[in-house]
Amino acid sequence: MSMAAPVPLRRDPQATTMKPRVLVVEDEAALVELLRYNLEQAGFAVAVACDGEEALAAVKEDTPDLILLDWMLPLMSGIEVCRQLRRQTPTANLPIIMLTARGEEGDRVRGLDAGADDYVAKPFSPTELVARIRAVLRRIRPALADEALSYADIVMDLVAHRVTRAGKPVHLGPTEFRLLRHFMEHPGRVFSREQLLDSVWGKDVYVEARTVDVHIRRLRIALNGDHDADLIRTVRAAGYALDAQG
Ligand code: CA
Repeated sequence: MSMAAPVPLRRDPQATTMKPRVLVVEDEAALVELLRYNLEQAGFAVAVACDGEEALAAVKEDTPDLILLDWMLPLMSGIEVCRQLRRQTPTANLPIIMLTARGEEGDRVRGLDAGADDYVAKPFSPTELVARIRAVLRRIRPALADEALSYADIVMDLVAHRVTRAGKPVHLGPTEFRLLRHFMEHPGRVFSREQLLDSVWGKDVYVEARTVDVHIRRLRIALNGDHDADLIRTVRAAGYALDAQG
């Protein structure tokens, strides 16, 4: 049982479990608000933890895509939080950017030694910080850093959550949006229903395999309209792929 419940991720109710999720671990309220504002403006979903214990609990509860970790925290230092996360398999590769007032080279080295992917010294410009976050995400999880995906004549704007095909808007439900995104991140690859369930619905959710077929059908209808070529290929006994050659 954790004493301090982690602050849940604030999500845009209109859409979107798909924004990259950043956990901000910082004890200065004013800085938290500045970070939250700038990160949300840049298209990230933001969760906050005020100390190291809370950060570890929050990560366990709902693993973010990246952690912005202040060095100077009450009770447990950011360095120690970083080390603990690195020691645990599920978070061994979780992108971590250390944030700190200490700008000396020795501290920078210690931060990177503890396993941080990058290091930003305070004071920093929000624009630069966002650029560094995107750079780390791009290196570690390429699909998360990009603001748009495109394949054939389909364009997915991941920030605005809009999809167009040949320039015309395509209206998708949340599940179809996630399905299409998964396909767009791996064009041409065939996924079984079980693989799609794991990646799109999540491993802990019990859904029947035929549910996948229902959503594929909806996605096809939304995407193809009356006349466009069908970009979703059904591979008998194997699954589905996004494939313009099909
Ligand atoms: Ca601090």
